[in-house]
Amino acid sequence: MTHDPLHTDWSLEGTAKRRADYYAASQRKFVPFRDPLVFRRGEGQYLWDNEDNRYIDLLGMNLCISVGHAHPRVVEAATAQARELTHCTTMFYHPTPAHLAEELAATMPKRHEWVVHFTNSGAEAIDLAMTMARTFTGNLDLLALRTAYHGPTAAAQSVTGIAGWRHPGMPGNVAFVPEPNQYRGIFGAGTQPYLDEIARVIATATTGRLAGMLIESVQGYGGIVGMPEGYLSGAAERVRAAGGLYIADEVQSGFGRTGDHFWAFEKDGVVPDIVVMAKGLGNGFPIGAVVARKEVAEPMEDKFMFHTYGANPVSCAAGRAVLAVIDDERLQQNAREVGAALLERLRDLQDRHAVIGDVRGAGLMMAIEMVRNRDSKEPDRETTAAVFEACRAQGLIMSKSGPTQSVLRMVPPLCLSMRDVDAVADGLDAALGDATG
Ligand code: PMP
Repeated sequence: MTHDPLHTDWSLEGTAKRRADYYAASQRKFVPFRDPLVFRRGEGQYLWDNEDNRYIDLLGMNLCISVGHAHPRVVEAATAQARELTHCTTMFYHPTPAHLAEELAATMPKRHEWVVHFTNSGAEAIDLAMTMARTFTGNLDLLALRTAYHGPTAAAQSVTGIAGWRHPGMPGNVAFVPEPNQYRGIFGAGTQPYLDEIARVIATATTGRLAGMLIESVQGYGGIVGMPEGYLSGAAERVRAAGGLYIADEVQSGFGRTGDHFWAFEKDGVVPDIVVMAKGLGNGFPIGAVVARKEVAEPMEDKFMFHTYGANPVSCAAGRAVLAVIDDERLQQNAREVGAALLERLRDLQDRHAVIGDVRGAGLMMAIEMVRNRDSKEPDRETTAAVFEACRAQGLIMSKSGPTQSVLRMVPPLCLSMRDVDAVADGLDAALGDATG
């Protein structure tokens, strides 16, 4: 044997430093801390680094960890499935993905019959949703929000509006509309001007016939931008009038995270034609899904469309456990209650730290936005970076977001407890003091 696959070198010195160079620079360089942080294990909402320091994971490992790190029921379900059959190509029937599909369909509004197609990631699911919408409607044009982020693949990139998140040469047929950001959107607070703008963009920047519109029910990388009341239903109405479908991206906002509803689009009483999900569904096991109205998905049945690892039974077994745990441990309700308590503490911090321009969010999906001046609302990217770094010393892991990287996003596992609220608020208070002191 040339190497022992069970041996892991956790050091950061000597050969380990050189070894890291084999790990593509495009991935390594995205490490946001000045000094690398190496996580060795996680449990619930906590992470431990290679020196056994504990952190509260307010990033939920980029929202993938929905019900808690190493949740025993998820680990058990996935392990049991891996021991029995680690993969089953979708050329054959396997009941595990079928069960998960049935359980996901049951979370959707009752107005339609739904079908589920599994992918390996959010971006693949976005690609598929775009293809489904174009195939079903026969139209090419799509609308997306300017500060949306829908993923790294070419199609998902084509509906991503911010230059820094977008690579050159992506496919077209996409028009962007302004995000209804109630704090700093171009039309200020309110809904109607943003809806009027959708109609204007359809009339002027598209053929007038749409395949659909993608909307994150709460924008994630965009900086936790919730949709104002009436926006989702108003947008869906305008898009449908142009022949298009309403595609809800719930990759970040789904699975009870926003507290009041299992899916964040439900807030507006609107029913999407297609719902895209990933991240939290697998609690870390890679899985994405497109849940579509049955008749919308039907024209795809004649097309060659096959994800080799899609419907992987290990990921699907994890997904089934996740849904059961959210229910059994009442994690949606926990997200509502703990999120409300934390939001209140963040508002107290806003009263005492002039650099916090805005505090917003719902459930366990919240953010603080940093500004140089509350009147001009000029984004304060430098202080955001400094607070982010200082949080590390306080045992808090979160993420910088928003098009100007001036938003600190908090999206912990849904099991964050009332006990943690004080630790998060006090830690942030100290970090804000250190960074602005
Ligand atoms: N949609 C949203 C809202 C996302 O935040 C992301 C990823 N952060 C994606 C889609 C793409 O998911 P993935 O990275 O799994 O491809």
